[in-house]
Amino acid sequence: MEYLGIKPNKPKVAVFDFSGCEGCELQLVNKEDTLIDFLSAIDLRGWREASSVINDDYDIALIEGSITRDDEIKRLEKIRSHAKVLVALGSCACFGGVNQMKNVFDLKKANQEVYGDKPKETAKVKAVKDVVKVDLEIPGCPISKAEVESIIRHLAWGMPFSYPVYPVCVECKQRFTTCMFEKGLMCLGPITMAGCNAPCPAGGLGCWGCRGPAKDPNYESFFAIARERGFSTAEVNERLNFFGGFQEVNAK
Ligand code: SF4
Ligand code: SF4
Ligand code: SF4
Repeated sequence: MEYLGIKPNKPKVAVFDFSGCEGCELQLVNKEDTLIDFLSAIDLRGWREASSVINDDYDIALIEGSITRDDEIKRLEKIRSHAKVLVALGSCACFGGVNQMKNVFDLKKANQEVYGDKPKETAKVKAVKDVVKVDLEIPGCPISKAEVESIIRHLAWGMPFSYPVYPVCVECKQRFTTCMFEKGLMCLGPITMAGCNAPCPAGGLGCWGCRGPAKDPNYESFFAIARERGFSTAEVNERLNFFGGFQEVNAK
């Protein structure tokens, strides 16, 4: 494939899964209409969910899942030492995702309660950037395949990629979706980074912020609107804490 007579680089890519549901990887293999083009644009060096190829010679490592055991730390450090570019793929990898909710519990006690005298190895959930240097984060639970394809195309052509600077509300309005606040539902769209095309409000759910904060979010205005619409501080904070992307923020 050439564009304007220029041959793109075919980046050597490997995909790795850590603690997560593998839904982000599934997004990549699920969209069959573009799967062949996607695989043709890269030189696949490893991807357990989709291929039997195993090769330690890769440039880009896509990391799915959060880190929650010692062996995962060692494995991740090894991958980092091989990769030129390490990408955190999905909200688990970027912020700990839904898994980081366990961090508020006493893990020893929870382990005993669930597994009795056969405890499982577990530790507080970490995002990938808490363990190794991350070059690029692609948030979302799950990721948007169209966005990942666009990012891989940019990498293959050596072009910089930038995320939308506006929040989910902009894409929501572009779809002519009735605002969830008008229906009595809470929505983190005003403070969440766009790029997903607002599927949750379009499907009748408020946004849960799986992509993390938009650029320069106006938290105070958002908290004021949520209060005005009758949502308690606890409800706002529960939603902010769901995927881990808003860890530094809490309504008061
Ligand atoms: S980000 Fe969501 S879809 Fe992706 S691995 Fe984590 S839980 Fe699964
Ligand atoms: S539904 Fe959510 S994302 Fe859509 S306009 Fe309302 S607040 Fe914004
Ligand atoms: S609307 Fe919100 S929760 Fe839904 S995919 Fe987009 S960022 Fe994630």
